[in-house]
Amino acid sequence: MSFTLYLIYDIFAICPVVENGIAEIEEIEIFTKDYNYYLHLVMAILNRKVLCHFSLPDMAISRQFDVELSRISTFQMGGKVAELVSVETEQDLKELFMSMAPDRKWFILGGGSNVVFPDGDSDITLIQFTPQPIRFEKKSEEEIYLIAPAGAVWDTVVAEAVEHGLSGIEALSAIPGSVGATPIQNVGAYGVEIADVFDSVRAFDTETKKHITLSNSDCRFGYRDSMFKHEGKGRYIITEVTYLLSTDEPNVPQYPGVAEYLAGKNITRASLSDIRDAIISIRSSKLPDPRTIPSVGSFFKNPFVPIELATKLKAEFPSLAVFPVNESLSKVGAGSLIDVAGLKGKRFGNISIYKNNALVLVNEGGATREELKNVVAMIVDEVQKKFGVAIEPEPELLEF
Ligand SMILES: Cc1cc2nc3c(=O)[nH]c(=O)nc-3n(C[C@H](O)[C@H](O)[C@H](O)COP(=O)(O)OP(=O)(O)OC[C@H]3O[C@@H](n4cnc5c(N)ncnc54)[C@H](O)[C@@H]3O)c2cc1C
Repeated sequence: MSFTLYLIYDIFAICPVVENGIAEIEEIEIFTKDYNYYLHLVMAILNRKVLCHFSLPDMAISRQFDVELSRISTFQMGGKVAELVSVETEQDLKELFMSMAPDRKWFILGGGSNVVFPDGDSDITLIQFTPQPIRFEKKSEEEIYLIAPAGAVWDTVVAEAVEHGLSGIEALSAIPGSVGATPIQNVGAYGVEIADVFDSVRAFDTETKKHITLSNSDCRFGYRDSMFKHEGKGRYIITEVTYLLSTDEPNVPQYPGVAEYLAGKNITRASLSDIRDAIISIRSSKLPDPRTIPSVGSFFKNPFVPIELATKLKAEFPSLAVFPVNESLSKVGAGSLIDVAGLKGKRFGNISIYKNNALVLVNEGGATREELKNVVAMIVDEVQKKFGVAIEPEPELLEF
């Protein structure tokens, strides 16, 4: 196998007059299957002072080296990662794993909106899918499969479903990230979660190096949970997700904010796009836009507590958000616990608790993992002391 290696030097390092920009300097023909060897050799020679990018003519794989992690996560925190590999298809992924050293550390990344990267430099290969188009398949007159590759942007998929008149995911509008991550924590909002519309996934099993299909029950979905966070962690890479959508009228989420939005627009029979617009409008008032205010959305999961405790807390603190779950459990809004504990809007060093939503932690710039850990520990502690309720983080605090 042969491929062309393009070395693209950071021109700023060579010519300080040019602030941005890259220049193609050199082209080398390499004849080997073990291209990692050559890449590491080249990187060593150039002392990593180079932005190196290469493409293989027969595979849609591209690599970047020494990538700033803060650029690829919505919390904008972290050091550098040795290598970021972008793949297009499940075949590219397989080829990548076949060529990678067996003990090479890797991590699959989506849009970086539910992970917090470590501070230091990490010698690990991050793998990311590039966005690819979705397709539809008819199951019956009323049921349509939406089949989306892992790299597709989730909100674009929701928009396309709405445009095609398909209901089921409109309440999950404006959630950042990729399709491939949606089953991981069983993404949910406004009374809907991925498990409700999930048919199956195609995944690459990194142990057997085979592509497999997993059903809804295989994934063992729970509240912000699935088997991908447990026994499947570090083993399965999702390459494609199939959702089962409906041509039926949509269910309007039963939330006061949605009702208010629709009433304000005199909408009595909400269409799919009315619901999507309502959700986008409500979310934009409550959640910071990660493009301008770095966050990972909700930082804590809503705790489930015994009904007796929830009733006692609600009597003592009427503004707590308490929702019945079943005959023995209630769910308490973690944001309302943090708010009633008096922490909303407070800033601790470079981390603040968002002024419009106590569930969101914001990186005010330059925050470190140590700072974040301290703030998280303090919040967990305050909530435990005041209410006797344990809360836990939702995003993954990665250690490579
Ligand atoms: C402003 C804001 C609002 C948010 N609102 C919500 C909300 O309402 N509801 C909600 O549930 N979440 C919400 N989130 C969290 C986040 O958007 C979701 O969890 C989203 O699904 C993460 O997608 P991602 O592609 O960014 O995943 P990443 O953060 O890149 O990764 C998350 C996890 O998924 C794994 N993963 C990613 N792709 C794959 C794959 N192809 N195969 C296997 N594993 C994979 C990663 O390894 C990692 O463990 C919000 C985040 C922000 C910033």
